[in-house]
Amino acid sequence: LGAPQRYVQGRNATKEIGKYLTDCNNILVIGGKRGIAAIQQDFENSCNQLKINTHFELFQGECCEEEINRISTLVQKMKFNGICGCGGGKSIDTAKCVASINNIKCFILPGIAATDAPCSALSVIYTKEGVFQRVEFFSKSPDLVLMDTQVIVKSPVRTLVSGMGDALATYFEAEQAFLSDSMNCLNGKSTLTGQIIAKACYQTLLQYGMQAKISNEAQAITKQFEAIVEANTLLSGLGFESGGLCAAHAIHNGFTAIKETHSMLHGEKVAFGLLVQLVLQNTPDQIFQEVLKFCKAVNLPTNLRQLGVEKVTDEQLMLVAQIACAQGSSIHNHSFNVDELQVVDAIKLADLMGQ
Ligand SMILES: [Zn+2]
Repeated sequence: LGAPQRYVQGRNATKEIGKYLTDCNNILVIGGKRGIAAIQQDFENSCNQLKINTHFELFQGECCEEEINRISTLVQKMKFNGICGCGGGKSIDTAKCVASINNIKCFILPGIAATDAPCSALSVIYTKEGVFQRVEFFSKSPDLVLMDTQVIVKSPVRTLVSGMGDALATYFEAEQAFLSDSMNCLNGKSTLTGQIIAKACYQTLLQYGMQAKISNEAQAITKQFEAIVEANTLLSGLGFESGGLCAAHAIHNGFTAIKETHSMLHGEKVAFGLLVQLVLQNTPDQIFQEVLKFCKAVNLPTNLRQLGVEKVTDEQLMLVAQIACAQGSSIHNHSFNVDELQVVDAIKLADLMGQ
C-alpha cells in the first residue's frame, strides 16, 4: 500500500502550507501561469512567517526530459531542498521526477481534481512534442498532497466531472485485479485496505457526485464538494495504485490513438472504458445500469458519439483493441483472457447500451 506522507484538504488550505514543508527552508515552486497565480500570495505569506525561502518558476508546458533537466539544474544551482508542483498534472509529474533525481522533498498542490494521479508515486513522461514516452515509477510517494478547495472550486466543472470518471473505474478495476491476484501499480499484491478504499470511492461518488457537480457550478464549497474532491484525489489515488488497473484504463489507452477523442479528458475516456470493461466481465445488468445512470446524471460520455467519434470504422475499433491488448497491458489483469475481437465487440455493445 502506498500513500503520500501527508494529505491535507480544505478551504484556503494553502494559507497553512508552511507548517507542512517539514525540514525545508528553500523551496522551488513550479507551475503554469494560472496554477501559480492561484496560490502564490497565500504560499509566500505562510512561508515568510516561518522564514522559508520561496522561488516561483514558470513551467514550460511539458513533462519531458528537457524540462526535467532544466528544473533539476535550477535545483542544484540554487540549492533548493524541496520542490512544489502546483496546478495541472504535467507540472506535478515534473516536480515528482525532479524530487526523485535530486533526492529532495516533494510537495503537490493540484489546481484541479481531474485525475487520481497527485497521490501516486509515478509520472508520465512525454517527448517535448507531447508524444507519450514512458511511465516513471518512484520508490517514494509525495511528502504532501494539499487540496485547497477554494482554488479547486474555481476550476472548470468539466475537470471535476472528469475526475469522477477516473474515480468511477477505480473500484471495478481494483476488484478485478484482486480477484485474479494480479500485481498492483506498486508491483505488489493488493491489500484488503486498498480494496476497502476503492469501494468507499465508488460509494462516495454515487452518494455525492451529483450534488458536488452542482456545488462546483455554484462555486460553493459544500460537504458534498469536499467529499468528491477527496474521492477523486485520495480514495481513487490510493485505490488505483494499491488496488491495480484492468480493462477500463487499457481501453482508455487504446482510444488515445483515435484523433477524434483528443479533445476528451482522461477521466471521460476512462468512464467509457469502464462501460466496455463491465461488458467484458459480464457484469449483472443491475450494476451496469447503476454505473450508466451515474455517468448520464453527471454528464460523462457513455457512447462513441459523446466521445467525439461520430462514425467509427471496424479498423479504428481494431486499432483501439490492439493497443488495449498489447503485451503488458493492464487488460490482462482480469481473471479471464481478453483478446482483440472481444474488445471490439464489447465496445460495440457498450456504445449501444450507452445511447
Ligand atoms: Zn486514470
